[in-house]
Amino acid sequence: MAKTELGYNLLSNRTETDEIDAMRNELARLLSRLTNQNTELERLATTDGLTGLVNRRSLFDHLEQEVYRTQRYGTALSVVMFDIDHFKRINDNWGHAAGDWVLRKIARETHQLLRKTDKAGRYGGEEFVVLLPEADLREALLLAHRLSQRISDTVITPEHGTPISVTVSVGVATLAPNESGEALIYRADQALYRAKQEGRNRVETAIAPADSNRQEA
Ligand code: GH3
Ligand code: MG
Ligand code: MG
Repeated sequence: MAKTELGYNLLSNRTETDEIDAMRNELARLLSRLTNQNTELERLATTDGLTGLVNRRSLFDHLEQEVYRTQRYGTALSVVMFDIDHFKRINDNWGHAAGDWVLRKIARETHQLLRKTDKAGRYGGEEFVVLLPEADLREALLLAHRLSQRISDTVITPEHGTPISVTVSVGVATLAPNESGEALIYRADQALYRAKQEGRNRVETAIAPADSNRQEA
């Protein structure tokens, strides 16, 4: 009788241990799945679905961090903002899918031109922003001209479509002391607007912020 009980207890203990092991494994599996799902959610929330670049919200998060770093360490920060010229015509002439194809191609070409620390984002429909940490105005202008040249040199052939060429208008701005990220973007946008007015397919430099104008006056 005692022998049988002992045997039963041993068996029961082993079963419990097995069950705990199984539960631990299951928990580890669920945890890893949750971590993966969170990573994927984070990626979806920060990425533009069409181009794979960072989206507008994430771009502003990066900008805020870079402005902080730049002001703290006294380095430089520039932004290059560009907008495809007469993009509406592409949609009108070749269809929305061809337009999407062009946007993806421009995003890839832009990405390929950048340094690892640079960040390209889709700012709006056919408008992009590149953040250039540790780049002064001279370096940013160089990049802007190279980018503009590369895009106009690229022949884009959408699937089952006619080859398309596009140009971009570009605005370049460099962070001024005590300037906010929003103010920097605003100045780049103004420069881009001027590039459009001056006939498109060109690069314009932002004017100095209002504060430094006042100091000069
Ligand atoms: P401009 O040279 O002044 O910039 O002229 P534009 O035609 O490029 O500018 P406009 O703002 O008149 O038109 C932009 C067009 O971009 C209109 C809109 O339908 C199109 N667009 C915006 N987002 C997307 C998108 O995700 N895919 C496609 N295919 N088209 C888009
Ligand atoms: Mg446009
Ligand atoms: Mg636009």
